[in-house]
Amino acid sequence: MSNPCVKCGKQRIDGKTWVGKMGVSSITYTKTVCPDSECQKIVDKGIAERKAKTEAMLKAKAEAKQARAKLLAAS
Ligand SMILES: [Zn+2]
Repeated sequence: MSNPCVKCGKQRIDGKTWVGKMGVSSITYTKTVCPDSECQKIVDKGIAERKAKTEAMLKAKAEAKQARAKLLAAS
């Protein structure tokens, strides 16, 4: 199965694998990484930044919801 790196297009290789639980069965997860470690660092950074952005957005949403609830409670 082709799984090219999003940054450089090189075929990604299996990085770390770990076993997770899904209900009663366990699933083996494999994280694929770019064979170029410097490139992988950049990719990882991009993922972390996206994750931080999503978390910030979710937090802002939750805060807005809370503010709205407070406003409704006050009126
Ligand atoms: Zn790459």
